[in-house]
Amino acid sequence: MRLLLTNDDGIHAQGLAALEAIARTLSDDVWIAAPEAEQSGASRALTLAEPLRVRELGPRRFAIRGTPTDCVMLALEHLVEGPRPDLVLSGVNRGANLAEDVTLSGTVAGAIEGMALGVPAIALSQAVGPFTADAREDFAVAEALGPDLVARLVEMGWPRDVILNVNFPAGPVDRVESVEVTRQGFRDVSVRFAEKRTDLRGRSYFWLGYKTLPSRPAAGTDLRAAYEGRVSVTPLHIDLTHAQTVADLALRLNGPVARLASGLASSDVPGGAHGGADS
Ligand code: MN
Repeated sequence: MRLLLTNDDGIHAQGLAALEAIARTLSDDVWIAAPEAEQSGASRALTLAEPLRVRELGPRRFAIRGTPTDCVMLALEHLVEGPRPDLVLSGVNRGANLAEDVTLSGTVAGAIEGMALGVPAIALSQAVGPFTADAREDFAVAEALGPDLVARLVEMGWPRDVILNVNFPAGPVDRVESVEVTRQGFRDVSVRFAEKRTDLRGRSYFWLGYKTLPSRPAAGTDLRAAYEGRVSVTPLHIDLTHAQTVADLALRLNGPVARLASGLASSDVPGGAHGGADS
């Protein structure tokens, strides 16, 4: 089995080393294409207005000055020689990717790009407690449970327009007892905030971050599984349509369009419909 690994924490992230350890339990044919710099929160950004520089760090190992989406696209189109990878693994992210955050996540986006280009993909994230002195310990749960879980998922398979979003709870490992297939949740409180600070020259700047707040996620959600210390596996797809609202809204909205009153029609605007020479 040929594997392509990416992440959003960057080529030097501890979580990528954890992912490589997981991957090597499944195959020796492991390719890595990861961002030079951290891209957390990059979502599905694709670099279109800048060139993409690639650094080959070793055999089958590339650092790209771009986003996770750039990395997966470049790897599948150019960097991986020979057969196409059978599986894209994205992560292991430092921090969980749950609920509404999955649409912000570069880790999830790396998996989505694999799926979009026809390669089955799994995003993996590791919830972390307070930062420890030895960052490697933070990924102990993912490293211990990831190999068997990924192998089982690959064996079971999933639809081609779906990715799997896996979240490992914080450790210790022996306290994690079960895995649950979940649906994407939605927080009942907002956990993001912006902190205003002042630089050495008296100017203000901001840091965006997360705060820990009590929440009561619904049963069956990724959030509830994470809160209760279970491994969460959420099948996701990128059809963002809300089916029920399509039906409800269509009943009231489908039909002829209503134009603005003629006084504002483009033919009456100075310069005409295509604008004047100085517009
Ligand atoms: Mn990240």
